[in-house]
Amino acid sequence: MTVELICVGTELLLGNIVNTNAAYLAEKCASLGLSCYYQTVVGDNEKRLEETLRAAIKRSQVVILSGGLGPTEDDLTKEVASRVMGRELVEDADSRKCIEDFFASRGSVPTENNWKQALIPQGGLVLPNPNGTAPGVIIPEKDTHIVLLPGPPHELKPMFENHVMPYLMKLEPGLICSQTVKVCGIGESKVETLLMDLIDGQDNPTLATYAKTGEVHIRVTAKAGSEKEARRLIKPVVKEIKSRMGSNIYTTEEDVTLERAVVELLLANKLTVTCAESCTGGLLSARLINVPGVSEVYKSGYVTYSNKAKRKLLGVKKSTLSKYGAVSAQTAEEMARGLAFVSKGDVAVSVTGLAGPDGGTEEKPVGLVYIACSVKGDVTVKEYHFSGNRQTIREAAVSAALTLMRGCILEYYSEITFGKK
Ligand code: ATP
Repeated sequence: MTVELICVGTELLLGNIVNTNAAYLAEKCASLGLSCYYQTVVGDNEKRLEETLRAAIKRSQVVILSGGLGPTEDDLTKEVASRVMGRELVEDADSRKCIEDFFASRGSVPTENNWKQALIPQGGLVLPNPNGTAPGVIIPEKDTHIVLLPGPPHELKPMFENHVMPYLMKLEPGLICSQTVKVCGIGESKVETLLMDLIDGQDNPTLATYAKTGEVHIRVTAKAGSEKEARRLIKPVVKEIKSRMGSNIYTTEEDVTLERAVVELLLANKLTVTCAESCTGGLLSARLINVPGVSEVYKSGYVTYSNKAKRKLLGVKKSTLSKYGAVSAQTAEEMARGLAFVSKGDVAVSVTGLAGPDGGTEEKPVGLVYIACSVKGDVTVKEYHFSGNRQTIREAAVSAALTLMRGCILEYYSEITFGKK
């Protein structure tokens, strides 16, 4: 079944507010197994809203509109939807009572235009709104279902979850289950390429990839009569993804984050960790320390922002800094080696880079970051080129550092297993 979203509001068009309703509704619809091919934003303009709605009902079975259900002149959604669907607007006694009660509970009385909100397209199902005055409406037709929801997210979300989701699940019966495979150290386009045939041939389960900072999530969603059956459909697909992505997968558990996976790896191998950060300024330590139970493994962290701090606290050589610069593979390596020495951590990670916006050169542009990881004295250094603003570059560097730590620890132990150490 296909669903289409229309978000109404001139302030959305002008960029005064961010269209979070569209993101929320699209994600919920996808979780229900509905295909959303179109989303439109249209201003508070009767003619353009009517055109948009007429186009939508021609191509989609469910059309969800948000906004424009308020009491004022420019709130037109219900009027336009009634006209397009050939329904009269009639007063709904229960909605009128709810409006009365809503105002009474706040010690005030409705103004004349508030009663407009009790008008419902004939034959429409009224969706109560305990968080506001505009009820939602579902206008069911043989092949089309129009859903009208209020704009404010705190009104729209509970209404969607309590009333619209059960309605849509009845239209398309069955249960939806999903499992997320989380991948690091490999970009979204590579993931898609590796899974192209599965994505192209998808039906049930469906596959979707989501790019996150430094990682990619692959969501496998199945629809079936029971949860057991849905899980049975998901299992072989996840197995296939595992065989293609190998150790790039850090978890298939919903609540496991990359930092938690790293901490679990450290715990499992009884390793302690320590960090020395320049451009990330403590973000890496903060992410690790977010994980409950990290005290078993986390020893210490240094923010060595200046060259002097790199020299004094980590023992980076003056000649290394002057010859190669603070942002260089050589400095990152000396930071990690020095850190391992002074902190006696099993795993020592260092980050040095240019987060911008100033300070970049042709040779060393903004976004250039070096990360080094020492596992019991074996040091790996990697060069990265991130894009974005100062904050996104720093966040990307932290995710890359976690990914590098994970990779180095896995490699260290696989070499032990295969007798190379
Ligand atoms: P009200 O009864 O409050 O007038 P309404 O259904 O008429 O509700 P709008 O007037 O279109 O809704 O929007 C009211 C407020 O809801 C907006 O000012 C904005 O804060 C929020 N809002 C509306 N649409 C969206 C959207 N698509 N995403 C996020 N917030 C939204």
